[in-house]
Amino acid sequence: MTSDTITKSQAAQSAANMSSYDSYCAAFTWKDARAQIDGFADGKLNIAHEAVDRHVLAGHGSQVALRWIAKSGARTDFTFLELSHLTNRFANVLRRQGVKKGDRVYSLLGRTSDLYIAALGTLKAGGIFCPLFSAFGPEPIQSRMEIGGANALVTTARLYNRKIKNLRSDLPDLRTVFLTDGDAEDTHNLKSLMAAADDDFRIEHMDPEETGLLHFTSGTTGKPKGVVHVHEAVVAHHITGHLALDLKPGDVYWCTADPGWVTGTSYGIIAPLTNRVTMIVDEAEFDVTRWYDILEQEAVNVWYTAPTAIRMLMRAGADALAGRDFSSLRFMASVGEPLNPEAVIWGNDVFGMPFHDNWWQTETGGIMIANFAAMDVKPGSMGKPLPGIEAGIVKVTKDNARALTEPLAMGELALRPGWPSMMRGYLHEEARYKKCFQSGWYLSGDLAMRDADGYFWFIGRSNDLIKSAGHLIGPFEVESALMEHAAVAEVGVIGIPDETVGEIVKAYVALKPGHAPTEDLRLEMIGHARKRLGPAVAPKDIIFRENLPKTRSGKIMRRLLKARELGLPEGDISTLESDER
Ligand code: ATP
Ligand code: MG
Repeated sequence: MTSDTITKSQAAQSAANMSSYDSYCAAFTWKDARAQIDGFADGKLNIAHEAVDRHVLAGHGSQVALRWIAKSGARTDFTFLELSHLTNRFANVLRRQGVKKGDRVYSLLGRTSDLYIAALGTLKAGGIFCPLFSAFGPEPIQSRMEIGGANALVTTARLYNRKIKNLRSDLPDLRTVFLTDGDAEDTHNLKSLMAAADDDFRIEHMDPEETGLLHFTSGTTGKPKGVVHVHEAVVAHHITGHLALDLKPGDVYWCTADPGWVTGTSYGIIAPLTNRVTMIVDEAEFDVTRWYDILEQEAVNVWYTAPTAIRMLMRAGADALAGRDFSSLRFMASVGEPLNPEAVIWGNDVFGMPFHDNWWQTETGGIMIANFAAMDVKPGSMGKPLPGIEAGIVKVTKDNARALTEPLAMGELALRPGWPSMMRGYLHEEARYKKCFQSGWYLSGDLAMRDADGYFWFIGRSNDLIKSAGHLIGPFEVESALMEHAAVAEVGVIGIPDETVGEIVKAYVALKPGHAPTEDLRLEMIGHARKRLGPAVAPKDIIFRENLPKTRSGKIMRRLLKARELGLPEGDISTLESDER
């Protein structure tokens, strides 16, 4: 914990969508939140109507909904009206090719406009949309298509030939494949079908409890789970975009996540559009100069990114920032991993505002705990629960129930079930799903604590907790202390079994450019950690690595560091981004 709270000015507070957290919470009901979306007169709804068509009906058809930046740098704008027509066309194409309501439509696409049109068009047609990372190899693709029972797939000719063609005979449910840019045997040419399709489509009116989205978890702790979400989730997407990301109609908004994981859909497609912002989509991968260029040239107002990217920007240093003008930025947020206090403070120094960390999971469908725009930020804290969300830190009692802990005590982060975007199941894993709900709580599997002011602090995944000489040590605390060292770019901390003390703390560190992995530096870092954390908690050993193993969504895979350290099987590595060992 750190005491250097970043306070918000009165002006910033009154400009925020939620200017007072406490009074907003007191007045909040999910019924009111539901009233902020349209729905249909028959009580049904559709995520895609809320995202696109309702803005056209309200007279905002000419506003740019999506600005797509190709790898080449070329920009293409799609207005809400154009997006409405294109998604109608896509829905018509699905119908013509026999894709029915309830069918599972997968995408295997880079961040191109086709992906966004396919997602929203599928929802219009009442299909269940499931986005896959285009960088996945054939095995992760096959297993996810099998688990979800994919009926249709939208992909490119190149990806099809490289990754799908040979799998077709193993995927009997996969009846229809659309190629966005070419032809191949047993596939449909999407471009020509779209050209021939009608601009009008009678959008499916969905029961709020009907499934709209299937997302696979990141695979940080083990085999990815298939998480089911329903159309009602849009109520949470919308209100969290409004409150936790402070989105205002007409904002320029950039979510850097790929729709291959849930952030890229909930906050890279749905929430921004329901909140009627102009969203930036960049086809290219991370690049320091390119990212700063986009923030500056597109005059981004709200930026939602992830700790790994922030650490890479920090690693690039001050040169890349020289002469930049980020005066359009109003709000910056981060999700996916614990955000080290160091990164929050860096953001405040460089951009004149802190990164606002928020916490949620594929299972929660939307942001649950956040640093809201009007709230003071305690660097290193995830913030406070969303209005309408009851979050608690619970521990197991003797009779295997759950009791709330005292402030500052560690426990499992739990939520009272019932919010609109809560998962409705793990596909084919009913028992595992049921196990998440105990004693009236949804149990997240994350360890955290709550301070006396009601701020939540992440400690670690329950599997990552280190037990050493009678201490329980959360890896995040150790990682954050090491991140303060000027030479550290990235760090992952694990516990290694030890006969005497149970486990010893070991850290893997990637260095910033210009720092050599010397023994002196290693000892200096251990010394720094000891000073900050005390000898019982500080790492006993530090190993230097070029890079740390991470998931494609940018999360450090501590379980892989540990498996490799101990020579154990690596387990499911389908989401592993290539790393250096
Ligand atoms: P899997 O469940 O397959 O192991 P995963 O949990 O990483 O993968 P996601 O649903 O993408 O899959 O990630 C949710 C998890 O990410 C949370 O449970 C939490 O551990 C971590 N996380 C997300 N946001 C934060 C945050 N702001 N601070 C700390 N941890 C976070
Ligand atoms: Mg998880």
